[in-house]
Order: sequence, then C-alpha cells, then structure tokens
Amino acid sequence: NDDTFKKVISHAKEYGYVFQSSEIYDGLSAVYDYAQNGAELKNNIRNYWWKAMVQMHENIVGIDAAIFMHPTTWKASGHVDAFNDPLIDNKDSKKRYRADVLVEDYCAKLEGKINKEIAKAAKRFGDDFNEHEFVNTNGRVLGYKEKIETTLKRLAKSLENEDLADVKALIEELEIADPLTGSRNWTEVKQFNLMFGTKLGASAESAMDLYLRPETAQGIFVNFLNVQKTGRMKIPFGIAQTGKAFRNEIVARQFIFRMREFEQMEMQFFIKPGTQKEWFDYWKETRLKWHKSLGMGNENYRFHDHEKLAHYADAATDIEFKFPFGFKELEGIHSRTDFDLSQHEEYSGKKLQYFDPEDNSSYTPYVLETSIGLDRMFLAVFSNSLQEEQLDNGTTRTVLKLPAVLAPTKAAVLPLVKKDGLPDIARRIAEELKWDFNIDYDEKDAVGRRYRRQDAVGTPFCITVDHDTLEDNTVTIRHRDTMEQKRVKIEELSNLIKAEVDM
Ligand code: ATP
Repeated sequence: NDDTFKKVISHAKEYGYVFQSSEIYDGLSAVYDYAQNGAELKNNIRNYWWKAMVQMHENIVGIDAAIFMHPTTWKASGHVDAFNDPLIDNKDSKKRYRADVLVEDYCAKLEGKINKEIAKAAKRFGDDFNEHEFVNTNGRVLGYKEKIETTLKRLAKSLENEDLADVKALIEELEIADPLTGSRNWTEVKQFNLMFGTKLGASAESAMDLYLRPETAQGIFVNFLNVQKTGRMKIPFGIAQTGKAFRNEIVARQFIFRMREFEQMEMQFFIKPGTQKEWFDYWKETRLKWHKSLGMGNENYRFHDHEKLAHYADAATDIEFKFPFGFKELEGIHSRTDFDLSQHEEYSGKKLQYFDPEDNSSYTPYVLETSIGLDRMFLAVFSNSLQEEQLDNGTTRTVLKLPAVLAPTKAAVLPLVKKDGLPDIARRIAEELKWDFNIDYDEKDAVGRRYRRQDAVGTPFCITVDHDTLEDNTVTIRHRDTMEQKRVKIEELSNLIKAEVDM
C-alpha cells in the first residue's frame, strides 16, 4: 500500500541506496542515481543474473554492445515507424497510449491548478487558510488543505489503475474546469516519440541523427552472425547482455519501477523453427526458478500470459511480482519467431542465416527472449526485504532482509569498546576478510545501536570483538535475521560467511 511504498522510498534514500538524480537542482523526473549501497546491490543482482544465464549455461555467451547503433537498426526493429513501440500494433494499444498522454496532461495541469488554488487561498485567507472549511460531495467537512491532499491522493490512485474515466469523474466532481476543454481531443493528441534522439558528428551539416537504444536486444540481433561464427556456436544457443536503455516514458511515476534511463538484462536464445513451444516452456520455468532461488516468497510471483500478441510473436508471458502497489510485470518472456533477424536481413541486405550441419540446411533462426529490468528487480528485492519487526522486549526494529548473496556489505566488524586493543584486533579481522567480501568496520556508538544500523542497511553478519577475544581468539557472530549470536574462532569466520553469501 501507499505507506509501505513511501517507507521503501525514504529508506532507500536514508540508507544510501537510491538518490534522485540532480537532487540539488530539485531532481529530474523519473531519473535516479544509485548510491554507495545501491550500486553494490545493483552489481550483485547483475552478477547473480549473469552467473545463472552465462556461466551456468554452456551454450550462452555474453556480449556488451554499444548504446549507439546505426539508425537503420531502429527502422528494422520497428521502433521508428511503428507507433513508438513495436509491441504496440493494434488500435486498442494506441488508444491506451493516447489515454496515457491525456492522463499525464491532466495530471500536470491538475497539479498546477491545485498549487495555484493553494496559493490563491493562502493569499485570500492568510497562511492559516486551512481553518476555512469545505463541504465535499459526501457532506463531510474538510479543511482546505485536507481537501487538496485527498484530491491528490485519489488522483494518484486512479493514475495507478491507469483509469482515465476515474480521472475525468474526479475532475468533474471537484468542479475543476477541464483543463483540456477546447484545446484537444483524442485524435489531436500529438504522437509521442518513445526514443531519445541525439546527434553524431561535430558540424551541423555532417551530423547524423541517432537514437539512444530503447532496448538492448537489437545489439544482440545485429551481432548474431558475428557471435555464432567466432564462438562456433551451435543452435540452440543464446546471447546475453546487460546495459542501459532509454525510453521517454509518458507515465513515469513509481520511483524506479518506470524510469527514463534504466538497465535491462536480456537474453536472446536462437532456436530451430518449430521448437519454439518447448523452449518457451523451458525458459518460463527456468526464469521462475531463478527468481524463487532468492527466497523472497513463492507466493509473490505469478505468470501473466498475454492474450493479445504482437503480429510476429507467437507466445508471450510476464513474470509478475507483488510490489507494494500490487502485482506488476518484472520480466517478459517472448517467443519472437524470426521477425527480428528477418527484418535485419531485409534492411541490411545481409543474410543472417544458420547452416545446420545436422540436416544440411540453412535457415533464419527463431528467437526466444527473456528480458528483465535490473532496476525493477532492485525494487522487487528492496521492497520485499524491508520489514518492521516487533521484538519480545516491546520495541520494533527496522531490518532489510536482503538475500545474503545480494547484500552490499556481507559483514560488519565491531569492537565492543574503543579501547584495550579491541579496535586493533577488529581492524585486523576486517583487513583479512575484505579479500573475499565487502566488509564494514564500525566503532562508533553503543554496540546495540551499531547492530540496528547494520540491520537497517541489510548486512547479514555482525562480528563483535570483546575482552574474551584477547584470551581465546574467539568473537561473536550475530545473524541479521534471527539475531542469534554464536561464539566462533576467528579462523572460522571466512567459511561461515562464505557458506551463506556465495552465489
Ligand atoms: P511495461 O509494460 O512495464 O512498460 P514493457 O512490456 O514495455 O514494460 P519490455 O519492453 O518487455 O517492457 O522490457 C523488458 C523489461 O524491462 C520489463 O519487464 C521491465 O522489467 C523493464 N522495463 C521496461 N521499461 C522500463 C522502464 N521504463 N523502467 C524500468 N524498467 C523497465
């Protein structure tokens, strides 16, 4: 719900995970920066994916294609001429797209209108304008400010459902003049380009119009033959890649769920035509298993099979995850037939075929794609891990129960007190462990507070050096989730940590 999501966003900032981009300039809409802990978590998620997809599959290799691509790429892919998104290929989707534009417009104007109203009211009634009362349609008496807040909340809610009718009804109910009256109707809404344009070349005459890629997949398709030949790959095989993608999203409002600059982790699996059904099932199952392996609750995932398919796709499903605002797409699995490779053959005039030595024939392979947003996965992991626990002693603790393999810092080393040589031993332990893990060293404040701080930032282990350590070379190791403490030998630490955090 709303409050949980707000907590997620503020925790992400407070504990150095996600900052708004250019915050000192009041930020840039739907663009975010990953902070000191966020960058580590993001790297760990990326590595966890890469390991499962590339390292563990003999027939999948990884590449790192450029963000800039020859502009014809986007004609072949359908991004330039189609209605912005090649998947959007039917009237209904276009309508929805236009509705999105309209909704965004309504919101911007409505928000502007509301801010103006607040300013007007403040001018008229003075700063305590909230004392002036309003009666809403249910006969409830509201303060002015409260009325405006309720309005915004409901507006945000209806937006989440992407329900235009709600927004319109709301506008009517509030008797706010329709900000669009007379100026626009559904057919007039200008086409929005999803892709960000830029120029290559210094002088105006020679400059070439380029796009920032809206998906990483095309870098794989255009390299299909290069990889197949140089890697001597035999079908079925896959090419994986992670990297930035850019989309000028119209409705971009849910923190890092929908960003304008984001990162994708994609894998295109090249197969023999006719085998797509079996590979579609294989990748559905394999990807779901990967998600479940993180232990974030099997009940938080479900498939959403697409009924309406793009003309070239013959099957598509989303893996949906239960975000704080409900089940939403986390990953897409698409059976794309030979659409992409055929398009590139047509536009480039080059053959992109595979010679199958087994039946002595050449064909354009079919493609099975798995595509997941790294930032969206980050949000899934982060929001699922943030928990408030009631403790036996009546207090609550905030704990970020990140899967240990993904946690930014694996252990914190804490001298019980800042004297008697304990800091020296603690530093030595940290120095030793940091060859294998990200380690934090913290000697400030009482140890209980340090534990809480590590809980909130998601560190799976705390290692405490106390006076007994001086006698017997043992330390206390405390587990974040159970808060259980165990006495162990210093030499055992590395293996104990490894057992839980290794990918
Ligand atoms: P949506 O329906 O949410 O817009 P999509 O169907 O356009 O997503 P794809 O083009 O299939 O998404 O991209 C694959 C994955 O990339 C998505 O499942 C999602 O995790 C991620 N993704 C897409 N757009 C964004 C975005 N604007 N910000 C963050 N992640 C995104």
